[in-house]
Amino acid sequence: MDKILYFCKYNITNMKIYKFGGASVNSAEGVRNLQKIVGKEKGNLVIVVSAMGKITNALEKVVNSFFERRADVTKNLQAVIDFHTTIVDELFEDKTTITAELKQLYDELKEIIQQKPSLSYDYDYDRIVSFGELISTTIVANFLKQENSAIQFVDIRAGIKTDDNYREGNVDMDLSQKLCDRLFAEREKKVFVTQGFIAGTITNQTTTLGREGSDYTAAILANLLNADSVTIWKDVPGVMTADPKRYKEVQIIPKLSYKEAIELSYCGASIIHPKTVKPLQNKKIPLFVKSFIEPDKDGSVINEYPYKLNLPPIYIDKSNQVLLTLTPRDFSFIAEEKLSKIFSVLASYRLKVSLMQTSAISFSFCMDYNKVNFQQLVQEFKNEFEVLYNTDVELISIRHHTKEIIDKLVGEKIVFVEQRNRLTARFVVSE
Ligand code: ASP
Ligand code: MG
Repeated sequence: MDKILYFCKYNITNMKIYKFGGASVNSAEGVRNLQKIVGKEKGNLVIVVSAMGKITNALEKVVNSFFERRADVTKNLQAVIDFHTTIVDELFEDKTTITAELKQLYDELKEIIQQKPSLSYDYDYDRIVSFGELISTTIVANFLKQENSAIQFVDIRAGIKTDDNYREGNVDMDLSQKLCDRLFAEREKKVFVTQGFIAGTITNQTTTLGREGSDYTAAILANLLNADSVTIWKDVPGVMTADPKRYKEVQIIPKLSYKEAIELSYCGASIIHPKTVKPLQNKKIPLFVKSFIEPDKDGSVINEYPYKLNLPPIYIDKSNQVLLTLTPRDFSFIAEEKLSKIFSVLASYRLKVSLMQTSAISFSFCMDYNKVNFQQLVQEFKNEFEVLYNTDVELISIRHHTKEIIDKLVGEKIVFVEQRNRLTARFVVSE
């Protein structure tokens, strides 16, 4: 019985998800390379694409100038348009269709920035920043269509539904399941091109899933469509033992468990978005991490393994952290009530704690240092706590640590906080 069901599942779905991040489509050459990787696939494939290059950052500038009603909003938007125009000019010989489709998107954006901002920054953020993905998928789909009649553009806002928690929408999996079943019903002859990162509410407002959320989109779709696998195409050859841009002696890790992957991304590994693993693990769908520069190489696989994998030390370095220590002014214990207060303040600033430690009357934690709202945050905590902090500290996390690797990475540095268990060692340090 089991065997038959298993067989059925694979015969019916046989679906793959490919995700291409901003770095893979930051130029005309990148889009051509994507075409080479996708090849002549004639069906059962969903291609999830992020905004091109650093366009999400550029659109954040548009949002900020719009929300603060600054005059440079027009110039900031023009920079976004110009970036894409250059790519389109290099990619297309016949520009009639693509130009018309993009004009419609640019006109919508221009119309938005002529209106007054809403009362919600997050709402305005999502409805502007989402254009990065709408534009990139319009370009990619039109380009692929020239050689592949199986290409079908999908506006994912009609398929993935979230609540109205703008900038970090919570996905309604049941509703999204029903909608995606319909949207992706005819999959045999289709190669779908759709947006990562963005989604919609039930009243069709645009939401986003959090920065770098396209991996998460790929995982959600894999779960909903019972895909056989997800492949994330990156500018590195796979999951590495350390950031190859920072360290010389790095190796690729061919196999990782879901648990290892989730622990690594919790430690700050930028290889996959932290939310990506759960939807895949829940349906036991393997995740391949491969290089778009050398697509024939194996890369890494994240999957459920029935045996223990022997892994080398893996280390992640997060610089530009700030370490804060809060002590209640009235000397009350750090317990549930105080902690929930602290976390609700952090949540209101959309801050994520990267490491924490409590003692009887103090709570220390590390997070990304953001000059803009840090002083405001400190002021808010000062109402109730004595606040001490160190900026410019670094958080080093080492999985599968050995004495040698700790000596090498931490060595002579000043250690502010140290946490160690059998598998993970973490240090907040400064030079
Ligand atoms: N374009 C979005 C970002 O840069 C989503 C993504 O790239 O995954 O955050
Ligand atoms: Mg990105």
